[in-house]
Parts: sequence; C-alpha cells; structure tokens
Amino acid sequence: MAEHETSFKASVDLMFDRAAATLDLEPGLGDQIKANNNVYMVQFFVKFRDGYRIFRGWRAVHSEHRLPVKGGIRFAPSVNQDDVEALAALMSYKCAIVDVPFGGSKGGLCIDPRDYNEFELERITRRFAQELIKKGYIDPALNVPAPDMGTGAREMAWIVDTYRNLHPEDINAIACVTGKPSSQGGINGRVEATGRGVQYGIQEFFRHPADVKKAGLEGGLAGKSAVVQGLGNVGYHAAKFLQEEDDVKIVGILERDGALVSDTNISVEAVFQYIRENGGVKGFPDATFVEGGIRVLEAECDILIPAAMEGQITLQNAPRIQANVIAEAANGPVTFEADDYLREHGKVIIPDAYLNAGGVTVSYFEWIKNLSHIRFGRLDRRHEAHKGEQIIGAIEEMVGKPVPSHVRDKLTYGSNELDLVRSGLEDTMRVSYQNISEIYNSRDKVPDLRTAAFVIAIEKIAMAYTEMGL
Ligand code: GLU
Repeated sequence: MAEHETSFKASVDLMFDRAAATLDLEPGLGDQIKANNNVYMVQFFVKFRDGYRIFRGWRAVHSEHRLPVKGGIRFAPSVNQDDVEALAALMSYKCAIVDVPFGGSKGGLCIDPRDYNEFELERITRRFAQELIKKGYIDPALNVPAPDMGTGAREMAWIVDTYRNLHPEDINAIACVTGKPSSQGGINGRVEATGRGVQYGIQEFFRHPADVKKAGLEGGLAGKSAVVQGLGNVGYHAAKFLQEEDDVKIVGILERDGALVSDTNISVEAVFQYIRENGGVKGFPDATFVEGGIRVLEAECDILIPAAMEGQITLQNAPRIQANVIAEAANGPVTFEADDYLREHGKVIIPDAYLNAGGVTVSYFEWIKNLSHIRFGRLDRRHEAHKGEQIIGAIEEMVGKPVPSHVRDKLTYGSNELDLVRSGLEDTMRVSYQNISEIYNSRDKVPDLRTAAFVIAIEKIAMAYTEMGL
C-alpha cells in the first residue's frame, strides 16, 4: 500500500465514521461500537528437530453485542495486531449486515504456512488453539473461529480436536469452530460459501437497474466481462460460478507470479488445475502472461473482483482502474482514499462487509447444525418427496394421464443439506442487498453502497446496545 495512505484499520474506522455521521447516535455510542473490546496477544514456542521456534498470534474481539463472537483465523507472514483488529471490526459489521446473530472477532498467526510440512503445521495449530482455548478465545458459546487466509478445513479439524480434548464434558464441543470437514461436524457447502455468496451478491446487484445505471452499465449479468485477483478459495469459487452459471467472461486473472489476460474467456477451472500442477499461472497455454501482473487490475472490464488481500487498490492505481463495478470479495482491498476517488469518478463498489459475508452466513448454519446435533434435511427430506408423490397421484387421477418423468423427478425431490444451505445463503445475500440498495437510493446523505451497508450495521449494533440498557 502507498506509504502516505491510511492503514487498513484507519480505513475501516474512517468508513465507519462516514456512515455514523449520517445517523443521530447518542454521544459516545459510535466510539464504543467502533473500538475493539479486547485483544489477546500470545507468544508461544514449538520444539522442532533443529531447536525451538517462537510464534506470535492474536485474537481480537470487536463487538460483543451478540455472542458468540465470530471470525476466521488467518495464517500469514504479514499478520499484525492492527490488521487483526480491522478484520475483527469488519466481522461485527458483516454479521449485522447479513443478519447473522454474532459479534465480531478475528485471529491471526504470524507464519508462512508454506514454510512448514503438515506434521509441523498441526503441532503449531494445536499449540495456538490451546492458548486461545485456555483464555476463552475459542468456545462454542463465546468465540467461534473459522478458516481465513492460509487456513482451511484441515486446521479447523485440529482445533476442534484440541478443544474436545480439553473439554470432553462439553456436549456442544464441535460448535467451537466452523468450516470443519464434513466428517467432523462440518456442513455441506461451507467451502464454496464465500465465493457462492459473492456470486449471489453480484447477481442481485444486476437485478437493480438503477444501481447498474449508476455504474455506467446496463442490462443483466450475462455477457459482462470480469477480472479476478486471486484464485484462492474465494476468488476461485466466485469466478468459476460466475463463468459457468452466469455467462460472465473472465478476461483477466491475477495470481502471485503474474497475470493472465485474454480478449475471449479464460477457463477458471483450467487455470486452477494448472496452478495446482505448476505452482503458478506462468506458461498457461490459453492466455497471455503478464509479468508482475498487478497492472491487470487496471484492465478494461465491467467487473473487477479483488479476491486476494487488503490494500490492493490505492490512490496510486485508482485513477487507472477501468472497471465500472468493483466487487470486493477480499476484506479491505480498497483504501479509504481510493474508495473516495473511485466514487467521485463514477465507479460503484459492492463492499466487502456485505459481499464476502457468505462465509460467515454458512458458518452460522454450521454452528446451528452443531448445536442441534442433527443434519439439515434429515427429518423432512423424505416427507417432502412423499408430498410430491401425493400431488402427482392427484394430478394423474384428475387428468387420467401419467405426469412426464422430468416433472415427476422435480416434484418428488426432497431437499438435502446442500440445497438448504444454498437456499439460505441465496436468500440472505438477496435480502441484504435489497436493504443496502434501499438505503443507498433513499437517503440523500448516503453516497454509496458501502456507507449504506455500514449504516445498517451501526443501526443494528446501536439498537442492540441501547436495548440492553448499556
Ligand atoms: N474468515 C471468513 C470471513 O472473513 C469467515 C468467518 C467465519 O465464518 O466465521 O468472513
């Protein structure tokens, strides 16, 4: 990020202030909401063959107006306390925006996971988890982590096992973390959830012609072009679904080692497989490779999807961004100054605190599943199918003809867990966008979708505090 620009944490706080200024909050309430309530910093060591290594990690708790607090744990060499606090704040706002009844938290361990083998990573993760559990920073009722950058279902399985060993009496132990493998109490559809939510969010934006027009575009999503930064879990799923299900043309892909561009359409799945086999995009046969690919953020396209990390669009490159819509799949990809600049120059940003909330939404479903100790759909799937058979029977009796098999198949289908998760996620993303768009279009003082989203978050959290009598 450019030296003179505000940090990630300051950016999130300034975005908060901009929205809070449009509201009539009681004095001091905004400051209470904005600040992190507490942060636990831990330093621990793990013994390896060649000696001890020391690790430093954090878990920040932002707002506890709802419990448990929720948010991922990231493993990255760049992790620091300020960023963890910014991410924890975004989690509180995110949950409020999509009506998920959690407060916000975030954890980070300063480590490059690529420097360790699986065995070593497991020991490090379990040690970090133990420290957090001891202090109540992992607990099914109080603080529930999930995957984030550099972590996934594997790490969550180690964490849940560590918690279970320390609390064998806790009947809800598996609800202490979400994003687990399905064999360990995870839920179907959690891995794809954030990317899927990005897809649903962009689809819903294109169902709002007035908002689409403000971005200088018209028509639906089909046929629009997009550039995506980062084919990690979020970027890969979002770009893949948009390409395969919505007819979006992917004309640029940025990765660690460079970028790919093409006038036609780059197959996301083919690039993803290529990266798996070759470690990067260089040499991919069906697109042009661009060395030091960051300039590809400035390529001509309708939708730019930064899905990598914070601070990618700054005042240095914002003036050259050509995309009409910036869909923030990552947390904090646009700095506060760049955000102002882009708005003033007619760009529309679909903000992170809304757009990437699909992950925590499905985490909420997983947590509920864990507390209820039963898989979604287990009780009603067959019942739903039998109802369909009865309807078919009645129709056939009335018209005296058999119902065609493709209709029969649809009517006698009972929803499984994945169907229900997708349905809940789609509904959440659609309704939340409608709420944001309504505020954006009806309040004069609200200049953009981000401010509208923050207004919703602040109003909800403020209401929770006020009603509690605090
Ligand atoms: N790490 C994800 C996020 O930033 C998911 C958090 C969760 O599921 O709790 O939203």
